[in-house]
Amino acid sequence: MNPVKLKKILVLSTGGTIEMTPMSHGLTISTNSKVDVSSANTLDGADIYVKKFFNLPSPHITPEIMVDIATELRRIEVTKEYHGVVVTHGTDTLEETAFMADIHLEGSLPVVFTAAMRSNSELGVDGPRNIRSAVRVACTEINNLGVTVVLNDEIHAAGRVTKTCTSKVSSFDSPGYGPLGFVDDDRVLYHRLPIWRMNLPQGQLVLEKKVGLVRIVAGFGGDLIDFLTETNYKGIVVEAFGRGNVHPDTALSIKRAVDSGVIVVITSRCYKGRVLAVYGYPGGGSDLKNKGALSAGDMAGNKIRLFLMACIGAGLSKEQIEKLLSSL
Ligand code: ASP
Repeated sequence: MNPVKLKKILVLSTGGTIEMTPMSHGLTISTNSKVDVSSANTLDGADIYVKKFFNLPSPHITPEIMVDIATELRRIEVTKEYHGVVVTHGTDTLEETAFMADIHLEGSLPVVFTAAMRSNSELGVDGPRNIRSAVRVACTEINNLGVTVVLNDEIHAAGRVTKTCTSKVSSFDSPGYGPLGFVDDDRVLYHRLPIWRMNLPQGQLVLEKKVGLVRIVAGFGGDLIDFLTETNYKGIVVEAFGRGNVHPDTALSIKRAVDSGVIVVITSRCYKGRVLAVYGYPGGGSDLKNKGALSAGDMAGNKIRLFLMACIGAGLSKEQIEKLLSSL
């Protein structure tokens, strides 16, 4: 019998419900909290190492902390210290950290983010199963998958996944695209591969902090864009209506921002589909394009904001950023 080839898998823990305990005032992280990997310890072929990177509830994870995680993952990708990494994280901002890592990594290291919707003290806890599934995915050698997110036995691409429900274990989904594959009892099955993922030019990940996100609603949005312009924001992502349209007054705020040198990127508040310069009326997508706004295709606003922070932080010009966004 051939000996099973062991894969060195690092579980990098960062906090979240997966390592929270109930206290009198509610679920929380304690300083001695630890992620429990015992569900994965019995897996054939996985040699598991655990490193506590930090332990934070994920609403406390800022873009700068996301950079720390992405930088550590890149270091491991270069040194090839491990065959794969599982990052445990709170569910609230997981999609953002996973995306930040995805745009920074070259892609040769399997990196799988996982989490728990229920704490270890709840009936039907999902964390142990999610960790086991994530380790199994980290052990598979599929090229060019990019960073993945594994919960509820589904494998999602970091660029597409989002938390869709506040409470259910089936919360994570990729609207419009669906999962890349599934983790079943006998094997990991891939049904599709992403042929595209957003990537930053390699180099140190430096973020421009002053990049805002404005979600447009009927009768509101322009004031916030003006405020960001007046307070020297360098970039603004606008989650516009439908195909990427706004009220004419909001369009004027966008023009003021562009004329002041702010890079404005239009995305949609619809959770599926691309923005496109289809409408020519004042405030329509075509008008916004003529006013100098860039468009971000079908990317979610929270993710494209991180991308813009990294692009501006790297000193890219508006033309260079437009070129990077042109594949969307
Ligand atoms: N609020 C928690 C967090 O994101 C939720 C979770 O981990 O599921 O840290």
